Amino acid sequence: MTDNSAPITQDVHTIPRKLPEEGKRNIVGLTREGLKQALAEIGTPEKQLRMRVGQIWQWVYQWGVRDFHAMTNLSKAYREQLDAAFTIALPEVVSKQVSDDGTRKYLVRIAGGHEVEIVYIPEESRGTLCISSQVGCTLTCSFCHTGTQKLVRNLTAGEIIGQVMVARDDLGEWPEPGMGTGENGPRLLSNIVLMGMGEPLYNFDNVRDAMKIAMDGEGIALSRRRITLSTSGVVPEIAKTAEEIGCLLAVSFHATTDEVRDKLVPINKRWNIETLLDALREYPKLSNSERITFEYVMLKGVNDSEEDARRLVKLISGIPAKINLIPFNEWPGAPYERSDWEQIERFADIVYKAGYASPIRTPRGEDIMAACGQLKSASERARKSRRQIEAEAGIG
Ligand code: SAH
Ligand code: SF4
Repeated sequence: MTDNSAPITQDVHTIPRKLPEEGKRNIVGLTREGLKQALAEIGTPEKQLRMRVGQIWQWVYQWGVRDFHAMTNLSKAYREQLDAAFTIALPEVVSKQVSDDGTRKYLVRIAGGHEVEIVYIPEESRGTLCISSQVGCTLTCSFCHTGTQKLVRNLTAGEIIGQVMVARDDLGEWPEPGMGTGENGPRLLSNIVLMGMGEPLYNFDNVRDAMKIAMDGEGIALSRRRITLSTSGVVPEIAKTAEEIGCLLAVSFHATTDEVRDKLVPINKRWNIETLLDALREYPKLSNSERITFEYVMLKGVNDSEEDARRLVKLISGIPAKINLIPFNEWPGAPYERSDWEQIERFADIVYKAGYASPIRTPRGEDIMAACGQLKSASERARKSRRQIEAEAGIG
């Protein structure tokens, strides 16, 4: 196997990552139970299974080790056996771009030659990694660049958690073997948002398994309160998210009437604002979490009036919420414009005075097309035409 030629400096203790080797099963992305079964299949004695899972898990997810031979608390013979059957493989980094504001964007290649983007956003008190759950998206939100690309496929759990591992490699953030996670002070990668390409709730099982790995205390160990899943509003999966993942929830709300939301977020035709709000009201109780983030993209003359702001606060009354106002990020051929700054501030003010935090999301990494809704793989297929985008937006 040759190492990939990514322009990334690796930490000395990080063994070069490998692409999946033919005939070998990749263990990245297996749940603890899945790993246990895989180890049983190669003849690991039943009595040892739990311990072996724990040991291998820690090497892979706590210390970022990619080579079974480096797992020094396992016998040499067992390491050989593992190496013959399994591999520890991550998505291949194709390129890395760093924005003037420090935002990093990675393009990674996964099986089948598909490409997805990962964005790392450093802030003073935290570092957020924005990851993808699908290649493309089946939904067709009219303001979203990803929505112009048809779904190519769901990402596997290994490809989802693999994005986190790729970023930790680049940030040099794996503790030395023997050290605990977080012993080196504040984390560079402290938060995960599922806000990249795709609708995470249309790939529920893989997203859940990957986030379980991210939250596992003997590995990457991020608290469930540091993971935010953003959905366009797949209502039947919302309660399941609370029960089976328990992370924070963000919802792409974007409009205050069904008429406008039908156009911006077409899934609204299936589950309308009222149905969505009913599901959201239950979420904090079910997940024992605090507030829900309402994402609201500011589109000039479409959803940014003061009347919209007043309607919004009325709609969400009773739901512990924060309203994240996102100035529209333009992309080539986009059928909308960003709202004027004064209008965004007027909107924010109304929401704030009604008692809700209403931060305006500063666009990050715009110079490298890393901002919200700008992600799209270069290996796009079946791209929709501009006419089709406009027709679906109801403005053709
Ligand atoms: N599919 C999920 C998660 C990915 S989108 C969802 O829709 O929630 C992440 C966020 O970026 C969503 O709130 C989405 O509506 C927003 N977004 C998409 N395109 C955008 C654009 N061009 N400008 C600003 N925000 C955008
Ligand atoms: Fe898909 Fe989300 Fe974009 Fe809508 S906003 S098209 S759900 S990625």
